[in-house]
Amino acid sequence: MPEPLVVAGAGMAGLAAAVRATELGADVVLYEKGDRPGGSMLLSSCVVWRYRDWERFRAECPGGDPELQRVVWEGLDDALSWLEALGAPVLSRDTGNPVTTGIRFDPRGLTDALVRRAGGLRVGEPLAAVVEGVPTILATGGFQGDRELVRRHITSEADALVLRANPWSSGDGLRLALARGASLSSGLEEFYGRNLAAAPRIGFEDFVPLAQVYARHATVENERGERYEPLTWSEVDVVQWTARQPGARAWYVVPDSALGEPVRERTVADAIAAAEAAGAPVERRDGATRVQVVAGITSTLGGIRVDARARAADGLWAAGADVGDISTGGWASALASALVLGRIAAEDVLGGPG
Ligand SMILES: Cc1cc2nc3c(=O)[nH]c(=O)nc-3n(C[C@H](O)[C@H](O)[C@H](O)COP(=O)(O)OP(=O)(O)OC[C@H]3O[C@@H](n4cnc5c(N)ncnc54)[C@H](O)[C@@H]3O)c2cc1C
Repeated sequence: MPEPLVVAGAGMAGLAAAVRATELGADVVLYEKGDRPGGSMLLSSCVVWRYRDWERFRAECPGGDPELQRVVWEGLDDALSWLEALGAPVLSRDTGNPVTTGIRFDPRGLTDALVRRAGGLRVGEPLAAVVEGVPTILATGGFQGDRELVRRHITSEADALVLRANPWSSGDGLRLALARGASLSSGLEEFYGRNLAAAPRIGFEDFVPLAQVYARHATVENERGERYEPLTWSEVDVVQWTARQPGARAWYVVPDSALGEPVRERTVADAIAAAEAAGAPVERRDGATRVQVVAGITSTLGGIRVDARARAADGLWAAGADVGDISTGGWASALASALVLGRIAAEDVLGGPG
């Protein structure tokens, strides 16, 4: 390949693409807009997972493209072995969820293992244009960081949302792809995120501890008292509903009898204690605790439409949260699809295996 391969974004998708392309002999230039590599992956819990059963994946994310979903689902186990072989440190082989399988990595160690092999990394340099004739992989991490795009596609309460992600993923990949003739995917109005305790200040270090993921044990209502009945195990529907309520806020009303229920490594009471300690509104009366939550947006789920080889347009590939049609209608690991499609994009550009 005479021209260097351009990759935009040094998060999970872009790093996986850059490392795979380097392995296959390419000369790579990896642009990173932020002041460090790792994207939202570095801030994440770093559980890279898939549904155990294909039918369950289809049932959980019925709006996605089955061909694209199949490629991610079938490719994950090999891709995880590849990460391990690169030296990514494993924290656990248990996702903590019986319907899923995967690996929890140490996010810093995983980022470092990928960066060591990526080569050509230019930190602090955003990709601003796609050059005709230069093969380019877009992996800029979605559009949750752009208020106007969020307002247009997701909620009129965009200003009230908490950005629970890196601050640099603001739709650059989407704009660049559309300018080169790519199409939009389904599900532009959907996103993955978490309802967070409505504390006065929420920093990067609070993204996991302040998450309130126990709506199934609570009555969920907005400030007008209108209720919402949670539908999914991941509670992605609850945060999407909350994002569309006044102030992007809701109340969880938890009966005392539910305070001991487990929520991952904690109990509901522990999560509420973290909310209270951070200064979020918490009220106790009539045998129940009321906790105010605010919607935190992590990754947009709609974006660029790609085929099963991650092709978006002529000479243009895309991977990661820039790409839609995988989780539509529900939630599947964005780190998993970023990893698998990033590798596939590199292989397709280089005409290698796959
Ligand atoms: C607190 C938290 C917990 C999470 N937990 C999990 C989890 O356990 N499992 C899971 O699957 N997902 C999880 N996620 C979501 C996951 O981290 C992201 O969905 C994932 O990182 C997306 O990968 P990506 O490569 O598309 O984007 P990122 O990893 O965010 O990388 C995108 C990169 O592109 C860069 N960029 C943006 N614009 C440009 C440009 N113009 N030029 C060059 N670079 C650009 C950004 O700076 C960024 O570094 C979590 C996220 C958070 C914040």
